Amino acid sequence: MRALAELDARAVRAVLIDIDETLTTGGRLTADAYAALERLHASGRIVVPVTGRPAGWCDHIARMWPVDAVVGENGAFYFFYADGKLRKRFIDDAAAREQKRAKLEAITKRILAAVPGSALAADQPYRETDLAIDYCEDVPPLPLADAERIAALMREAGLQAKISSIHVNGWFGGYDKLSTSKILFDERFEIDLDPSNREIVFVGDSPNDAPMFEYFQNSVGVANVRRFEGRLAAAPKYVTQAAAGAGFVEVVGHLVRRG
Ligand SMILES: [Mg+2]
Repeated sequence: MRALAELDARAVRAVLIDIDETLTTGGRLTADAYAALERLHASGRIVVPVTGRPAGWCDHIARMWPVDAVVGENGAFYFFYADGKLRKRFIDDAAAREQKRAKLEAITKRILAAVPGSALAADQPYRETDLAIDYCEDVPPLPLADAERIAALMREAGLQAKISSIHVNGWFGGYDKLSTSKILFDERFEIDLDPSNREIVFVGDSPNDAPMFEYFQNSVGVANVRRFEGRLAAAPKYVTQAAAGAGFVEVVGHLVRRG
């Protein structure tokens, strides 16, 4: 991981941002981080949070935050707000989502019984597609080995599984944060991410960001990404000095100063 100062910011026209412990700090959105988000958006760059958080949250984010769209539930959908309307684009159709949801219930019971101390995430009722097991948000924090055990149980049941800073998310389907970001940029912004890779910055902090860290030439980890060192399928190319929201403010300072 190289220092953020080495990232060539001149051509950057879009910024994708993880939310938990990338934009937020200890679970809270600080005024500084929100102001940086607003400054970034006002600079004319495309701004898109890309998160494991649920559809219910993403409804609010797409409507009210200074962003151009949001990718949620680890790539199950993107939402955007345009012409006074919230637009929702799911990767699976409604019938497929219903079918998958029914199958998740039995798997949930099995995991909660197998990993004492884990719990269904508090934001589960606002999810449309995936299962979120809490290992570090509202429950007394469990070791990362337990989070990995939860992820392994999900994979045994045929789910994709990713560990965030607080939850283990599992879902049926071939999408992830990266594949849905590609669809969003193609459909909404008419940008093909492959040839435009160097014009995009991604900022994240944890294992569920690994596909993004690997794909983007300008992937940045906020300093707390080091918590997962050795447990990331791919590390970010650059790293900030400050952790969490302050690390995000550092990224915006680097990008917008040069804009
Ligand atoms: Mg995160």
